[in-house]
Amino acid sequence: MRKNIVAGNWKMNKDVIEAQQLMFQLLSYKKENATNCEVWIAPPALYLMMAKDVFEFDEIGVFSQDMSEHESGAFTGEISADMLKSIAATGSIIGHSERRLYHGETDSHCNRKIKLALDKGLTPIYCNGETLEQRKTGQHLEVVKNQIEVALFTLSAEEIKKVVIAYEPVWAIGTGETASPEQAQEIHAHIRSLIADKYGKEVADEISILYGGSVKPDNAKEIFSQPDIDGGLIGGAALKVEDFSKIIEGFN
Ligand code: 13P
Repeated sequence: MRKNIVAGNWKMNKDVIEAQQLMFQLLSYKKENATNCEVWIAPPALYLMMAKDVFEFDEIGVFSQDMSEHESGAFTGEISADMLKSIAATGSIIGHSERRLYHGETDSHCNRKIKLALDKGLTPIYCNGETLEQRKTGQHLEVVKNQIEVALFTLSAEEIKKVVIAYEPVWAIGTGETASPEQAQEIHAHIRSLIADKYGKEVADEISILYGGSVKPDNAKEIFSQPDIDGGLIGGAALKVEDFSKIIEGFN
């Protein structure tokens, strides 16, 4: 059966001392509590090696927030899949809406990054989701379909099984506005059925699909109880161990 996952996307937050503190708090929490899901974090790239040191027995999976679509070379500011592999990172978030909005990333970029990540043995967390305008005009199902097709449908069945998908409606990110559990479930089921149509039900049933967008301690349990929601990609509430641990306990 597919994995349940709670992943924290720290975005561009915390200085080095604060980052280390939160990592140690998460480590203690993980050691003292049996969790019913995998726990992953995506700290800023600068702190990835520190995270690998703190979680020396892979208690918590360590992800970058992005990676280059290129293998190596003259790409100032970028980090490569090989670099991530060389520090034994678990994988990378790919196609976050903030990368799309501020850095012009498209699903074609995501497609190349996902393929490269998989080739290097990294787990991609592929983010997708519609904007408020697209939802208001009833285009959300079509938008998500197009994102999934362009970013993922060049992969083989064996490859796509290794991808984690994060549905993150842009209008729910950092806004305090959450998709209702029913709205989220509708899109998650839609994504799973698109994959089932292309690769078969068995493949679709193996893929973890996370929800992201204002997941908080008080709404996590209900969101995670939906049949096609296999966990969350958490922004703001991943920055404090008290909040993040309560979200993890949404699976208890
Ligand atoms: P918030 O949980 O802060 O809405 O962010 C969600 C997100 O973008 C996770 O990648």
